[in-house]
Amino acid sequence: MDCIFCQIVAGKVSTEFLYQDEDAVAFRDIHPIAPTHIIIIPKKHIPSLAHLSEEQLPLMGHMVRIANQLAKREGIATQGYRLVINCGKEGGQVVPHLHIHLLGGRRISDKLG
Ligand code: 5GP
Ligand code: ZN
Repeated sequence: MDCIFCQIVAGKVSTEFLYQDEDAVAFRDIHPIAPTHIIIIPKKHIPSLAHLSEEQLPLMGHMVRIANQLAKREGIATQGYRLVINCGKEGGQVVPHLHIHLLGGRRISDKLG
């Protein structure tokens, strides 16, 4: 198992979970680009958004709900925040395990692309 996020899920890389349940976990990005920079991932190894099956669509809703809850907990829900999912090489994805970035705590001024 050489996927870094699978290793985090398996507890093989020491990482504090801000949230966890049977389907998903959340933890702080190791190289934060904003005061709040949290990664939300499914426990199951799904390589990218492009590999998501019809049956796995509700999982995305579940992860968005976790992101919204964490935004509240971080105190950034009112000011605003951004969720980002990079998919594939040209989409800027580096870790090949589906994840949502939760960014906030500063004005995310850069526009898309
Ligand atoms: P991507 O570019 O694939 O959308 O983003 C992957 C993110 O995972 C990057 O922001 C990177 O800093 C973060 N990351 C990579 N390896 C680790 C790790 O071992 N621990 C944590 N907490 N974050 C990681
Ligand atoms: Zn994985």
